[in-house]
Amino acid sequence: MKLYALAFGAHPDDVEMSCGGTLSMLYRNGKAFGMVDFTKGEMGTRGNAAIRATEAKEAARILGAEVRVNLDIPDSNIEMNRKNLIKVVEVIRKYQPEIVFAPYREERHPDHVHAHQLVSDAMFYSGLTKLKTGSLAAYRHKRAYYYMQHRTFIPTMYVDISNDYDTKVAAINAHKSQFFNPSSKDPQTMLSTPEFMEYLLGRMRYHGRMAGVRYAEPFWTPEPVTLTNFDSVV
Ligand SMILES: [Zn+2]
Repeated sequence: MKLYALAFGAHPDDVEMSCGGTLSMLYRNGKAFGMVDFTKGEMGTRGNAAIRATEAKEAARILGAEVRVNLDIPDSNIEMNRKNLIKVVEVIRKYQPEIVFAPYREERHPDHVHAHQLVSDAMFYSGLTKLKTGSLAAYRHKRAYYYMQHRTFIPTMYVDISNDYDTKVAAINAHKSQFFNPSSKDPQTMLSTPEFMEYLLGRMRYHGRMAGVRYAEPFWTPEPVTLTNFDSVV
C-alpha cells in the first residue's frame, strides 16, 4: 500500500502532539498517511501497553490515519542497532511515503534522539537496491520534515493548523491515560497536569503568531522548501 506520508514517533502520543494538526490537514486534502510508533510506551508512569494501544488506535482514527504501525521496540531502550534500522527500512519500503515526519535531532528523551537517527539513516538506506529486505523493493522518499518536541529550534517551515486545531486536541485527548484526567488514580506526571495542555496549546498559538496564522506547527527541513507558486504563502 502506497501512502503519501509516514509520521514516526518514539512513543504512542508523540506524533499527535508534534504534527497531529499537519496530519489532519493532509487527511482533509485527500492525502493518505500512516503513523509509526517505535514503542508501545510501556515504560510510561501512567497507563500500560494495552491501554495505550487502544488509545493510540482511537487517536489514529480521529486524525484519519490509514494505518498505525507499532515497531514493537522496547520503550526506553530504542537501541541504535541493525535490527531496529531494518525495521524502519522495511516500513518505509512497504508504504513508500513521499514525505516523512520524524523527531528533531536534539531532544530531552533519548528515545526521541534515537528514533530521529534511525529514521534519518533508514531513509537513506531504504534507497539502496543491494540492501535486501525480502520482497520489498528499494525506495527513496522525497522530503523529510522534522518536528518539534521538548527542545526548541528555529523552524524552517510552518504548517498552518488553524483548521485542524480541534482535531489535533481531540487526538491528544484520546490518550486518556497520559494527559489531564481528574478521574485517573495513576501518579501525576509532567504531561498529566492541566498546565501541560495549556503549554502545548500556548505553543501552537505562539508558532501561529510567528507564522502569521492562528495556530501552527513548526518543522525543520534538511533541504530548503521550494515553492512552485506564491498562492499558499501567508
Ligand atoms: Zn515520546
